[in-house]
Amino acid sequence: MNNTDQLWTKVINQVRDWARQNSIWAVHFNSGSCNGCDIEILATLTPRYDVERFGIKLQGSPRHADVLIVTGPVTRQARERLIRTYEQMPEPKFVISVGSCSISGGVFEGCYNCVGSVDDVIPVDVYIPGCPPRPEAIIDGIVQLLTELKGGKARKQQRPVIAEEIPA
Ligand code: SF4
Repeated sequence: MNNTDQLWTKVINQVRDWARQNSIWAVHFNSGSCNGCDIEILATLTPRYDVERFGIKLQGSPRHADVLIVTGPVTRQARERLIRTYEQMPEPKFVISVGSCSISGGVFEGCYNCVGSVDDVIPVDVYIPGCPPRPEAIIDGIVQLLTELKGGKARKQQRPVIAEEIPA
């Protein structure tokens, strides 16, 4: 790689870091949830909670997403698609595990068609507990990730963030 290429790569990385610290685009993946967590994620995206004020936007393609939001335990059928979706995302990428089932298997733990929790399959950066977690808890988890990003602390191999469970 020559000097021009190195400079270009550096500029691209700086622009990308700036964009990610100020606005994260998320892709949502249901790996086997009962849809309870998914309904709360949809509620989070409505004007009532207005997550776009934090720069958070739902994105259809994993190739354009910074954050993968996963709900539910991982079923045998969803496992390969979850890995493929994760691998399609550009670096640096982050994973938010939403709901008790995605964190530990929850009520589906030990079920014949489940392979386990999300972090049994892909690395997770933020855990948002609850069954299902309320929109406030989901927003709190995402904002904590944004805060860590702004501090330049959230990177792979570091301790994951565990969002506070907000009672109903
Ligand atoms: S945590 Fe609760 S709401 Fe979410 S997928 Fe599991 S059972 Fe459903």
